[in-house]
Amino acid sequence: MYDWLIVGAGFAGSVLAERLASVRDESVLLIDRRPHIGGNAYDRRNDSGLLIHQYGPHIFHTNSSKVADYLSRFTEWRSYEHRVLAFVDGMLVPIPINLDTVNKLYGLKLSSDELQSWLAARAEPIDGIRTSEDVVVSTVGRELYEKFFRGYTRKQWGLDPSELDKSVTSRVPTRTNCDGRYFTDSFQAMPKHGYTAMFRSMLAHPNIKTALGTDYSDVKDTGCFRRVIFTGPIDEFFDYRFGRLPYHSLRFKHVTLNIPEHQPVAVVNYPQSEEYTRVTEYKHLTGQTHPMTALTYEYPSAEGDPYYPIPRPENQALYKSYQRLATATSDVWFVGRLATYRYYNMDQIVGQALMTFDRIERSLPSRAARTRSKVPAVAAAVAVDA
Ligand code: FAD
Ligand code: UDP
Repeated sequence: MYDWLIVGAGFAGSVLAERLASVRDESVLLIDRRPHIGGNAYDRRNDSGLLIHQYGPHIFHTNSSKVADYLSRFTEWRSYEHRVLAFVDGMLVPIPINLDTVNKLYGLKLSSDELQSWLAARAEPIDGIRTSEDVVVSTVGRELYEKFFRGYTRKQWGLDPSELDKSVTSRVPTRTNCDGRYFTDSFQAMPKHGYTAMFRSMLAHPNIKTALGTDYSDVKDTGCFRRVIFTGPIDEFFDYRFGRLPYHSLRFKHVTLNIPEHQPVAVVNYPQSEEYTRVTEYKHLTGQTHPMTALTYEYPSAEGDPYYPIPRPENQALYKSYQRLATATSDVWFVGRLATYRYYNMDQIVGQALMTFDRIERSLPSRAARTRSKVPAVAAAVAVDA
């Protein structure tokens, strides 16, 4: 009998497994239907020995020192600031749009102040910014929106930006300086030996038993656990009672080339051409020295694994129905990107898992506390004397 069954060995499930095992001394059966740990952050060596990310590029960045400190117990880091170029009008230019982007694209020599006026002259005032189109058009105007965002978003989501919540394109800022970094978080780094190595270290605790290639449906009726943490899709847990929550998926084409370098940065976006959205070259992320290089092409797809919850009001309303069921289900905790149906980054999921652990601590006496309360007074006195 395990204290906990944890479904899903991604960030949400693994952080909770580690906390429950090491802080509360409780036993955990951690399952995943995939043949590996790490969830979508799983990385591995390909046949040529190059470290690649099986499910597309995962770049770690956070403003939370709590999250960075927690993960630092399980990995060393390699400093890395992410830079992305977009292939637009036949040129490679920085995205997020910044001073260099506009100057290169239009053959200008604007200063930062001049760029502010240049953008202001093109931005369309929009009352009550609601959609992903509104966000961009109201900041940079329609032409740059068309060049950088419309085509990419339609490819990536199968929806026009006008049909998507503003939160999606709000992830990408606009800058009037030359800062070419994709993120500006205070902590930006890659796990030095990769994500899978970090997960392995997190899960190396005698209280944790990991069973891969195991679906929740294989174990749910075995009665071998007291409580459940579920990090899979919440609609699946409830047998799609109210209908399916929509997700967008991706197909990854992994390629190895017999050349040392293919592109100048880790990621190149293709907002105007090609069927794929972006190409990742991992050596920039990992710092690996190797005569060959590994790339991943991402092809968006309506079918396949659920990668991206789709932020639209009607989907959020459907999720709320499932969330009400979840709240009424005792002894099951729903955590993670799929179980809470939110487009969260890795650090946000680690933060969510740590907060869930705090809630568990506040609401359930731990095994250690239960054992203490069962020790008879005389025996306890003897133990103290001894
Ligand atoms: P997951 O990693 O999805 O783990 C859930 C696990 O549960 C899966 O392994 C699944 O197999 C398992 N599971 C589900 N249902 C069942 C079941 N019934 N039985 C058994 N097992 C089950 N975030 C960043 O911070 N930076 C990035 O650069 C970044 N890039 C990304 C790129 C892509 C292409 C994608 C898709 C996501 C990216 N993310 C990035 C987001 C990041 O992947 C997530 O925030 C994080 O992996 C979520 O962790 P999780 O544990 O909630 O879910
Ligand atoms: N986006 C875009 N063009 C780009 C980069 C991003 O249109 O060159 C939009 C697109 O809708 C994308 C969203 O902004 O889904 C968020 O971008 P981000 O890089 O955060 O996407 P992720 O890495 O999560 O796939």
